[in-house]
Amino acid sequence: MNRVAFLGLGAIGRPMARHLAPPRSALTVWNRTVAKAATFAAETGASAAATPREAAAAADIVVTCLPSSREVEEILGGRDGLLAGMRRGMVLADCTSGDPASSKRIAAALADAGIAFVDAPVSGGVSGAERAALTVMVGGDADVLERVRPVLAAFGSNIVHCGPVGAGHALKSVNNAMLAVHLWSLAEGLAALTKAGVSPRLALEVINASSGRSNASQNLFPERVLSRAFPRTFRLALLDKDVGIAAGVARDQKVASPMLQLAAELYRAAHAELGEEADHVEAVKVVERWAGAEIA
Ligand code: NDP
Repeated sequence: MNRVAFLGLGAIGRPMARHLAPPRSALTVWNRTVAKAATFAAETGASAAATPREAAAAADIVVTCLPSSREVEEILGGRDGLLAGMRRGMVLADCTSGDPASSKRIAAALADAGIAFVDAPVSGGVSGAERAALTVMVGGDADVLERVRPVLAAFGSNIVHCGPVGAGHALKSVNNAMLAVHLWSLAEGLAALTKAGVSPRLALEVINASSGRSNASQNLFPERVLSRAFPRTFRLALLDKDVGIAAGVARDQKVASPMLQLAAELYRAAHAELGEEADHVEAVKVVERWAGAEIA
């Protein structure tokens, strides 16, 4: 049985970790807010560790799922950090949607200690995590991926080797930048149509039978915007971070990218306006406010 440590029981981390609980693996969890780890352990039969170090010491493979690479780097170091508990031959699979430059830095620091690293961000949302149907975008050596594949397969149905360390994080950021652009531009278009007297429901039906369709038009707007439900599954703050990473990747590669840079600026503004807890789809409310029209 795999001995796995999972750190970060947030909106998506919790349902991912559930699939690793006994009897599938000997699972130890750690979460910054201790009560969440204790509840998870009581519900699933996993063990709760007091520190990242303690979690790592009980495992052979460590999985992190934190907001950004910054928090991953934070929990790596220090007396109670992951590195203090990890041993040569172990693997860290980082399922955070992080940034490629940090991943390369983390991989180099771990390599010095004889520990392998893959970036392994996921897509498919909370519902995909609950159904163990995530896509996992892996950056790193192919042989390291094979060592962690059984762990990633617990929550991922589509595990894709994207390239060297950082490639998974780069691809994930571009995917989420596409989500951000589709969401924002559809909100502008539907606000304009609403003001022009066209029903947004009818507009979505036509778009979804035409070439402008996207996940935003097929799923997010019908289920979350027209209904005004706006459930909180993926924080706007995290999408802002992802679009910023994609804009940075384009800049680093010297790709002219006015669209990505503008998207990064718009999502930074929406995040500042709506705060830390707003869902990503609530960015539509900023477009509505600017337009003076509700898409309902
Ligand atoms: P949440 O904000 O719901 O959870 C964040 C987790 O990180 C919590 O466990 C939180 O602990 C912990 N955390 C926050 N700050 C720190 C810190 N300084 N030190 C240690 N732990 C910290 O995020 P999600 O679960 O939604 O997202 C996690 C990652 O997965 C992100 O990179 C996100 O972009 C990505 N992702 C999310 C998806 C989604 O649908 N939600 C979809 C695909 C990818 P605490 O409980 O104490 O707050």
